[in-house]
Amino acid sequence: MSDDAMADVAIIGAGICGLMAAAVLALRGLKVVLIDKGRGAGGRLATRRLGAGRADHGAQFFTVRSPLFADWVERWQAVGLVYQWATGWSDGSLAGTKPDGHPRYAVHGGMNALAKHLAAQVTREGAILQTGVRVTAVSPAPAGGPGWELAADDGSRTGARGVVLTAPAPQSLALIDAGHTHLTAADRAALAAIEYAPCLCGLFTVRGGVHLPAPGAVQQPGSDISWIADNQRKGISPEATVLTVHGGPAWSAAHYEAPDAAVQPLLVDALRPWLDDGAEVVAGEVKRWRYAVPVTQHAERMLRSSGAVPLYFGGDGFGEPRVEGAVLSGLAIGHALADELA
Ligand SMILES: Cc1cc2nc3c(=O)[nH]c(=O)nc-3n(C[C@H](O)[C@H](O)[C@H](O)COP(=O)(O)OP(=O)(O)OC[C@H]3O[C@@H](n4cnc5c(N)ncnc54)[C@H](O)[C@@H]3O)c2cc1C
Repeated sequence: MSDDAMADVAIIGAGICGLMAAAVLALRGLKVVLIDKGRGAGGRLATRRLGAGRADHGAQFFTVRSPLFADWVERWQAVGLVYQWATGWSDGSLAGTKPDGHPRYAVHGGMNALAKHLAAQVTREGAILQTGVRVTAVSPAPAGGPGWELAADDGSRTGARGVVLTAPAPQSLALIDAGHTHLTAADRAALAAIEYAPCLCGLFTVRGGVHLPAPGAVQQPGSDISWIADNQRKGISPEATVLTVHGGPAWSAAHYEAPDAAVQPLLVDALRPWLDDGAEVVAGEVKRWRYAVPVTQHAERMLRSSGAVPLYFGGDGFGEPRVEGAVLSGLAIGHALADELA
């Protein structure tokens, strides 16, 4: 959108929450602009190429608990986008796999393909998606005009009747403060109470065999290393064996400021027990998620600020965590804001 453009709704963040909100708002006829600082849509639905291979390095899979989300997932399965990957994980012990019967879903081509699918859908429905643009401040519209003004690092300004902030709550609060936007003490306290744990993630290309238990992953909640997965066996990296290794929240926090050169060998050590004799790590990189998963949340699926002009906060810090929580938050915001602006 060009300088000084005006939309009904500006959404900051084209992760799954912002995309779902945009899907509802665009379907209901509102003019939506979605702005994301990333190179593409998706946020923590992130898939990266490594040489000939590919790896999910944010969310690894998702679960479905609510009928509302189940409807969406059924549609994504019907178009061949989403598939059931597993019904549980081994913790890496001799007890082997422990299926608990609950389906875990993944996305053909990697988790980011779901974001790409939704981004194509919302732009077909008229929404404008701007990527590679970082919003720097959210302020009341100048000279008493209606709504809000967003300033961005490319010098553009976007006006909107309503704003939705879907970045992790500390980042959203920083944008509000940069724009000198007033929040009530209660709203501010509710947002400030949402906290996240970090995650240090390693992606490693392996030459030779890997013998992670079926279906190619171990999950060890509470351990230093919480997750190791083989993206080839997952089905998203046919040309090369690429492993994803996640540090647990406490371990990641303790090592967050350490240089890659110190972190990478520790992540490689964690995957060594799963390499066949003669197999070796031939390439690798470390990725840092400062706001990986919420550890404290707002009880509701969104927070609508107490001011007169619509300002909504959402994402996985609101209601339920994980991909499903972010989806439900986005849908709830989309409907509430469309009703408010009708
Ligand atoms: C390592 C890791 C593993 C995970 N594993 C799982 C899992 O297995 N299953 C599961 O269900 N969930 C998992 N999650 C959590 C899941 O990824 C998130 O709950 C979900 O993707 C959050 O979506 P969101 O839209 O709320 O936020 P995000 O995806 O973070 O989207 C927010 C967007 O806002 C953008 N943004 C931020 N600031 C600005 C700005 N100033 N200007 C413009 N854009 C901005 C960001 O670029 C981002 O795209 C995992 C997360 C991580 C990091």
